[in-house]
Amino acid sequence: MPTISKSRFGSHIQSTTMFSMLIAAFSLTLTACDQPQQTKLEAGATNTDQAAQSMPVIDAASIETAASQIDDAGFMQHVRTLASDEFEGRAPSTPGGEKTVSYLENEFNKLGLKPAFGGDGDTSYRQGVELMELTITNNPALTLTHKDGTSQVLPYKESSVSFTSRTGDAAQLEASELVFVGYGVVAPEYGWNDYAGIDMTGKTAVILVNDPGYRAENDELFKGRAMTYYGRWTYKYEEAARQGAAGAIIVHEDGAAGYPWEVVSGSWSGPQYNLYTADGNQNNLAVEAWMTQDAAQSLFASNKLDYTEMVAKATQPGFTPISMSSTASASLEITSRQSKSYNVGALIEGSTRPDELFIYTAHWDHLGVKSVADGEDAIFNGAQDNATGTAALIELAQAFKALPTAPERSVMFLAVTAEESGLLGSKYYAENPAFPMHKTIAGINVDGMSTIGATDDIVVVGYGNSQMDEYLRHEAEKQNRVLVPEPTPEKGYFYRSDHFNLAKKGVPMLYAEAGLKVRGKPAGYGQQESDKYLAERYHKAADEIHPEWDNGGILQDLNAHFRIGVAISNSNDQPQWSEGNEFKAIREASLIQ
Ligand SMILES: [Zn+2]
Repeated sequence: MPTISKSRFGSHIQSTTMFSMLIAAFSLTLTACDQPQQTKLEAGATNTDQAAQSMPVIDAASIETAASQIDDAGFMQHVRTLASDEFEGRAPSTPGGEKTVSYLENEFNKLGLKPAFGGDGDTSYRQGVELMELTITNNPALTLTHKDGTSQVLPYKESSVSFTSRTGDAAQLEASELVFVGYGVVAPEYGWNDYAGIDMTGKTAVILVNDPGYRAENDELFKGRAMTYYGRWTYKYEEAARQGAAGAIIVHEDGAAGYPWEVVSGSWSGPQYNLYTADGNQNNLAVEAWMTQDAAQSLFASNKLDYTEMVAKATQPGFTPISMSSTASASLEITSRQSKSYNVGALIEGSTRPDELFIYTAHWDHLGVKSVADGEDAIFNGAQDNATGTAALIELAQAFKALPTAPERSVMFLAVTAEESGLLGSKYYAENPAFPMHKTIAGINVDGMSTIGATDDIVVVGYGNSQMDEYLRHEAEKQNRVLVPEPTPEKGYFYRSDHFNLAKKGVPMLYAEAGLKVRGKPAGYGQQESDKYLAERYHKAADEIHPEWDNGGILQDLNAHFRIGVAISNSNDQPQWSEGNEFKAIREASLIQ
């Protein structure tokens, strides 16, 4: 039996019926004063559908029993396997990556979940994702040549990293004129254009991290301290390419980027992946680069410009780009390899509305094995990032299977690949979904769970974005926890994990995890541990299982995530984006389809 074949969504009659049900769900939600519909669930009766009346019901007691399936021992067993040296840091398209995919298939199969992909007798847990893997083979320095003939050589990884996403065996910048373009942002809705009046053809943009609102700490500019998508490096390279530039160099600053230079140099060296495209990404920049702030300060000084002053200028409305008298050169030697990795999706089919979906996502990939100095650990195990989230998918699936019957709507557990390479697996899924986006009711993403113990707070990344917050608040209150906005919205975490690709398509997605108020620990403990993780472990070989891990917060979070998934999948609820949110219009357009 095919599970979810495309034909199931194709019938005109079904679509019409589903549309009127959506309208009904809409009005329900609108009359509910912003509160999720939960009373029905807790009263025990979940379904008045005649055909379903003889079926067992999902009542409060059965949810309790099912939730107890989520336990530390089971969770850690998965984490231990996924983060083992045998899995070699789970890079896509490597033996370690293949072991991960097989492990997930096996676990989902053992639990009796259905494959989420394919149809008509040819189903699979795997969704093939074609990747182009590019590796720089020559440690290219970035050379800045100034008007007076002097040069500033920025050694690879020490003070610069250069890359390309174009397929080929070489990429160059040859004495490409440098232009300081501030934040490199073209945002008509904010009346902002950092490329005003300049032709960038063949030139190289020098770009600041983050966006003007962050630097100015001015709520009137962009979103103030909270990063907008314009603050992300992905956007900056895309925009420079749209402007016709040959290259772009982003100036790294620890504070404004949200991570230290080692994260940049570590993430951008070694094999890099893009989604495969027929044209080999020839419309992208020839060279995408980063440099340290020290290097930028010298460059500006050589142009008789004061870096701090220029940054201040770029942060004012009306900034126009500044042509520099220096040029940039770099010569990259590349090996490229087309490869295939997989998203892994498993499904519990809904009992009455199987074509509507609640989705859980987590990326299974991490950074793999890297070349490091002799005697150093070369395996980047990615225990916290994101063996924890991947293990969470299995635990959540197990809890759902322990319910007395499947929820009304379908539930998918989607482990995506190539997140660390730019959210590629989820991007591919969002373009090629197993369920249409307008039938994907809502979801939760899990990435890098907290291992510092049970907390009094739960941090919502993108707090206030959607009604998903209300579902979380409802569950958090039962745990005597409070919701808090992310403490560092300037780091743009909402744009840095896989839920973003679904949000971009209009699906309300929740991304939240245990906060910093750790139970039974002195004030300041959570912050100290969080700082330690970012400084010593995040995207480093030291992201391993550590003996002091306390998974109390993980168990709290998974308990809440499970109950939210049950509440939404077993109801007519249609969570909405908040008024004024950047994704609301996308959702409304998608539902009208
Ligand atoms: Zn991650």
